[in-house]
Amino acid sequence: MEQLPVFLNLRGWPCLVVGAGRVGAGKAEVLTAAGARVRIVAPEAGARAAELAEAGRVSLDRRAFGDSDLDGCRLVVAATDDRALNRRIVALAESRGVLANSASEARIGDFSMPAIVDRSPVLAAVSTGGASPSLARYVRARLETLIPRSFGRLAELARAARPEVNARLPRISDRRAFWDRVFEGPIAEMAFAGRLDEARAALAALLDSGGGSAPATGEVYLVGAGPGDPDLLTFRAMRLMQQADVVVHDRLVSPGVLALARRDAEVIYAGKRRAEHAIEQPGINRLLVRLAREGKRVLRLKGGDPFTFGRGGEEIATLAEEGIPFQVVPGVTAASGCAAYAGIPLTHRDHAHACIFVTGNRVEGRVALDWEAVTRPDQTVVVYMGLASLHEICAGLVRHGLDAATPAALVEQGTTESQRVIEGCLGTLPDHAEGAAARAPALLIVGEVVRLRGRLDWYRPGESGAPAHAHATLAHSEGDSGRGD
Ligand code: SAH
Repeated sequence: MEQLPVFLNLRGWPCLVVGAGRVGAGKAEVLTAAGARVRIVAPEAGARAAELAEAGRVSLDRRAFGDSDLDGCRLVVAATDDRALNRRIVALAESRGVLANSASEARIGDFSMPAIVDRSPVLAAVSTGGASPSLARYVRARLETLIPRSFGRLAELARAARPEVNARLPRISDRRAFWDRVFEGPIAEMAFAGRLDEARAALAALLDSGGGSAPATGEVYLVGAGPGDPDLLTFRAMRLMQQADVVVHDRLVSPGVLALARRDAEVIYAGKRRAEHAIEQPGINRLLVRLAREGKRVLRLKGGDPFTFGRGGEEIATLAEEGIPFQVVPGVTAASGCAAYAGIPLTHRDHAHACIFVTGNRVEGRVALDWEAVTRPDQTVVVYMGLASLHEICAGLVRHGLDAATPAALVEQGTTESQRVIEGCLGTLPDHAEGAAARAPALLIVGEVVRLRGRLDWYRPGESGAPAHAHATLAHSEGDSGRGD
């Protein structure tokens, strides 16, 4: 180990930063954030340093460094763009017992300043010992995605409960088991969601029950898996996928996304293809309740966004009735994903004032669209689950007033390595799609914005070099379901 990581309590310390460029201002800012009294000395100040001084957060002396600037100071950062000067400042500081850092060379001076993930009171600091500040930033970015923004709340909860937990669970092993339960389960999720009273009550109940035993009920995470490309998952979805005990997914969830679930999680396929006699909706609702009652953390993973033609509302209604804790995590819906990856800006303001999402499902054998609403001028229409009725939908739009020459595109397996975009107009698209043997899942986009694709198309499936699992296609056949998930 080349350096010892320590966390300094420098509240109230007089600290000096020499240099007022971007780097110096950045150092001054973290020092003040930690409570130091910071003086910046530099003949010229950059905009950020001037702002800090203006706001009264630092004092700024616009002049050259003089040796006496170190008088009474406990820590100095040499952040000028003159290496020799930085070295001289560090050497001088060391001779006086002042802690010194050189912003230009990590190897000289007493300490280096790490990349920080700040979830106060939780702090993670990353150092590469000066080998590569960019690498430290990279590691920090990875940590940022893993540690929820509201992590500090969990720490505050733990801080407040600690004396009582220590008193009631004198054995260290019991305490560890207790805190593992708190940090990995519903209590932490309540804290992250800002439901602090509930979190405190649940923590107290867990403590009353002896701490180590399994909680009476688990919880359900209703999570949007996005349209296919695993890179489109949210940080929260990623985190919950890593901690769930059971994953219940639909057929629209891509293999690349599923591969990110915890390795030892049980995976249950709940696709609803009729031909498969798969689980019907009430059965899925009951399954979620049963699994949660067994104390499991259940990840209900749905393609796209759970609240966009996803029947997510029905599933959580059952959970709410049964008193099972749950949370909903949005996902990139097919319309956003397919539009982005096909180069079709859904509401480009030269062409569309509105965008309407509808389902092309059949109700009692007929496409049940609100024809008046979907044929208004200057809008983009996105049709989910429309492939099986493509002829009927396009013909209906024309019959109800849209020009047969209105541009239209069918995006198949959007955002995946197998994405195909079939273009045409209302008059021609159904035949093009048939000729190209289009398969579900496919999304229909109708409107002038489709034309922009000619210029804005950027995504080249098959050229990304992504890992093999990301290339797998979505196992979906919408035709025989007729109603999506
Ligand atoms: N909740 C989902 C939609 C479920 S309905 C979401 O928010 O995206 C299922 C329909 O979504 C499919 O019939 C298809 O029209 C559309 N769809 C979902 N994923 C798709 C994809 N990767 N490419 C094209 N269409 C997709």
